[in-house]
Parts: sequence; structure tokens; C-alpha cells
Amino acid sequence: MYLVVDELLLKERPSWTARFDELVDLEGDGSWCARAVADLSLTADAQRVRVLGEVIAGAPRACDLCLAHYLETVRASVGELCLVDGGEGLEASWDEDNEVWHVGLGGRIDVTEMVRQALVLALPTAARCGENCVGATLSEPRAERGPDPRWAALSRLRDV
Ligand SMILES: [Zn+2]
Repeated sequence: MYLVVDELLLKERPSWTARFDELVDLEGDGSWCARAVADLSLTADAQRVRVLGEVIAGAPRACDLCLAHYLETVRASVGELCLVDGGEGLEASWDEDNEVWHVGLGGRIDVTEMVRQALVLALPTAARCGENCVGATLSEPRAERGPDPRWAALSRLRDV
């Protein structure tokens, strides 16, 4: 989803909700896409455009433990500010130092990229298919099985 920052948009200073429903290319190379849905709140005034909202996405993953494929539900918050103050080229550019976007008049804001970044950050590092993962019971000692045997020596010391 792109938002074109033209004269009319800045003059009317609108505030509206945009339905976002897209396949987001998480890696940027088409190898891993997540269907993402959000109701984004967009506000524009003469100097800035704000994009806010909660995104929910289903990202296909493979479990680290049992290698089963599953759909991970990812929730992420999008909260981006884009200053209308010039900026190079057609696309809004990201200013890492100030954590804002910059765009020139007639330029466009890549809302999909904002959603993509939020999802990538929110995605858990570990991929686990769920509670009943076969791999988890094989390789991870569960709490209900008692304390880790490696702590036995330590607890003996404590009991003396
Ligand atoms: Zn698993």
C-alpha cells in the first residue's frame, strides 16, 4: 500500500482509517510472505503524515524442534511518522538517527514497508509449532519432570 503525498492531501488535512490487507514479503525476496491485516489510522497535516495501527499476520514457519510447518500468528504495532520536508527521490526515506521518515511533495510513503518492519521485529526468534510439539518433549526437559540434574550438586551443598 502506497500513500501519495500530494498538495491536495496536505491541504485537506484528512484523518481516516485505511484497511490494510496484503501479502507482505518479509525477506524482500519473495521467499517468505505473511498475510497481514490491519485497520490503519492515517493522519495528514501540512508538515507530517502519521501511520498508526495494530497489525495481525499469519507467517508460515517451520518449527525449530520438530520441523513441522505451521502458521505463526504475529501481532505488531505500527507507529510511524513521516515528515513532509523534502527528501530524495520518489520514495520516502528513513532517517535512522531521528527515527522518522522524510518525503517530498509528490513523493509516496510505502505503508507496506512500515508494516513489514513492524512484523519482522515482532516475530519471535524461536519457532515453536505449539504446546504439543513432539520435538519439545524429546529434547527439552520439562519443569514437571523435576529439577535439572545439573543442579543436584548445588542443592546438596545448600542442604548441608
Ligand atoms: Zn514442533
